[in-house]
Amino acid sequence: MTAELPSRHAVRRPNLRDYALPALRDLCRERGWPAYRGDQIATWLYKNDVVSIDEMTNLPADLRRAIETDFDLTSLEVVTTQRSTDGTIKLLLGAFDGARIEAVLIPEERRVTLCVSTQVGCPLTCSFCATGALGFTRNLSTAEIVDQVLEARRLLGPDQVLSNLVFMGMGEPLLNLPAVSESIRLFTDPKAFGMAPRRITVSTAGVLPQIAPLLEVAPIHLAVSLHATTNEVRDVLVPLNKRFPIETLLATLREEPRINRRRPVFFEYTLMAGVNDSVEDARRLPGLLEGIASKVNIIPMNPHPDAPYQPPSSGVVDRFTAELHGAGIRVTLRRDRGRDIDAACGQLANRAPTGEPVSGVAPD
Ligand code: SAH
Repeated sequence: MTAELPSRHAVRRPNLRDYALPALRDLCRERGWPAYRGDQIATWLYKNDVVSIDEMTNLPADLRRAIETDFDLTSLEVVTTQRSTDGTIKLLLGAFDGARIEAVLIPEERRVTLCVSTQVGCPLTCSFCATGALGFTRNLSTAEIVDQVLEARRLLGPDQVLSNLVFMGMGEPLLNLPAVSESIRLFTDPKAFGMAPRRITVSTAGVLPQIAPLLEVAPIHLAVSLHATTNEVRDVLVPLNKRFPIETLLATLREEPRINRRRPVFFEYTLMAGVNDSVEDARRLPGLLEGIASKVNIIPMNPHPDAPYQPPSSGVVDRFTAELHGAGIRVTLRRDRGRDIDAACGQLANRAPTGEPVSGVAPD
């Protein structure tokens, strides 16, 4: 039988981007090279962004050959890029097994944020989220999380720097903690990406046992998808609430020493017309958040065909926001970005392109 193998992925080898620095040093040591070679490799991979091992000119030839035969360097390829009228760029990326994931680059006046995915699909089945409707396929590897950043960085203009990273794409980061943690080590290591931890935010629907282990990795920000003020409503929106109900979630955050005024938790609250947008909700929320250093992010629902919910009118959104503000809550209203290309929060579902392709950056 001579069925043709997809040669590029016929043999998958360990990926060099799966290793953060301590592991990369160990890897070198185990193979008889000094540990600092690991640091040099990281600098080539993440600061210089090389795509071939031959570019790593300060490594001895035998080390380069060994890396070349034993490791892969990239894990994702860009399938399409779409640019929204507001400048947001959605990248559709393909993995070795045909899995498709999305990352969203959001340039703003004073920062450029990338929203990365952590899973192919998502197992949480939140009733308002397009990714939830996809079902769950698998966790992403560290290399696949890191590659989203490398690919996105290549789309930036000469004056743009990727300043912020949010783990708010497809998937639940805390159900893929090992790969997420290792990627955070790479993003924050001065020898690798060298990002300030406070510029990284990981969002969770509330997988409580994993919150402390995540916050131990680096002093990053935590975001929590709250979306409701009663268990009755949150059970429907975020089924995980049946395992970790609101009072347990909030008690965990209240007691978490790494959440404090210097590092508040960001509560995401997606407003859905007639579901969680009442004045009673707005009045209940401050009491619930009492004693937790926090900010609230209001996100009007981004509608999509897989969910029966709509955003409230702007009058209702403003009233809800004003009510919280009046109660002394630090609240921001998130402008939706990239809605025209299905790149806004909760719209990541690998839908067919709707916007203009970005010229000159798609590989084919
Ligand atoms: N699973 C994680 C990471 C996803 S972050 C989490 O739940 O936090 C994506 C954010 O967008 C979450 O707060 C999610 O609840 C919210 N979201 C999902 N669908 C949305 C939609 N259609 N409109 C607005 N926000 C949505």
